[in-house]
Amino acid sequence: MKGAWSFPAGWREGAGRLFSALGFRERRCVACREPFEPDALPRHAVPSPEETAAFFLCPGCRTQIRRREAGFCPYCGEPSALEDAPCTSCSDCMMHLPPWNDFLFFGVYEGLLRDLVLRAKFGGSLAALDMLGLLLAGVCAGHYEAAPAPSVVIPMPLHNARLRERGFNQCLELARPVVKALGVPLCTDVLVKRVSRTPQAMLGREERRKLAQPFEAVRRVDGLHILLIDDVCTTRATMQRAVECLLAAGAFRVDAAVVARSSRHGQGGGPALP
Ligand SMILES: [Zn+2]
Ligand SMILES: [Zn+2]
Repeated sequence: MKGAWSFPAGWREGAGRLFSALGFRERRCVACREPFEPDALPRHAVPSPEETAAFFLCPGCRTQIRRREAGFCPYCGEPSALEDAPCTSCSDCMMHLPPWNDFLFFGVYEGLLRDLVLRAKFGGSLAALDMLGLLLAGVCAGHYEAAPAPSVVIPMPLHNARLRERGFNQCLELARPVVKALGVPLCTDVLVKRVSRTPQAMLGREERRKLAQPFEAVRRVDGLHILLIDDVCTTRATMQRAVECLLAAGAFRVDAAVVARSSRHGQGGGPALP
C-alpha cells in the first residue's frame, strides 16, 4: 500500500541478533525461515562447518549445504564434474600455477550456498553473513592445524563507491570470525581497489596498465604470510590480481580462502541478484 510504513530491510535478522545477544536462541532457519530447534555452538572451540550448519539451518536445509571434500583442483578449487572424483589439477593450473600457495574453500557456488551468499551480499541478511563467516572460520581453523598459520588476514577490498552503495564490505565481515578463530591480526589498510570512470579508449598506456591491475598495495607487507579472504571465486582473475599485488608489495606467501568456488559444470555462474 502506497505510503504505508514498513520495517526496514533486514529488520528480522537484526531482531534475531538482538534476541541472541540477550541470551535467547534464534529459532528460525536462516534459509527457509521455518522454526526449528538449533544445536548449540561449542563454547570454547571454533565450530566445525557441520556444527555451524546445525546452529543456523533446520535439519532439512542442512542436507542441502555440503562441504566439497573431493572432486576439485587442489591449486585453485575448480570443481570437477564428479563430486567424488580424485583431486587433480584443472587444465588452467596445468598450464600456469596460480600465484597463491594454499587455496581453501567451503563448497561449490550453487544451490543453497549460492542463495545464502547472495542474501548476505545483496539481501541484507546478517544471519547469513554470520553463518558464512563461521563456515569459513571452521575451514581455515581445520586447515591451519596442519599448516603454518598466516601472520595476518586481509579481506578483499571493495572500492569506495561500492562500499557507500552497499554500506558494508561482505569480505571484511567474513574475515572477522576467521581472524578470531586463528588468533591473528586483521589488516584492512594494505590492499585497496581502484576504479576508473574514464573510458578505456581515452586512457594512456600507463593508465591502461593500472586498470589491468585493479588493486594497489598502499604499504609494504615485507615478509608477511597473508591469508586473503573473498566471498566467491568465480574465475581466478580477481584473486590472482590481488595476490600478485601483495607479492609485489613484499609478501612472503599468500594463501586464499573463499566461501564458495563457482563451477564450470553447474548453475553457479548465473546472474546475481540486483
Ligand atoms: Zn530450513
Ligand atoms: Zn586449478
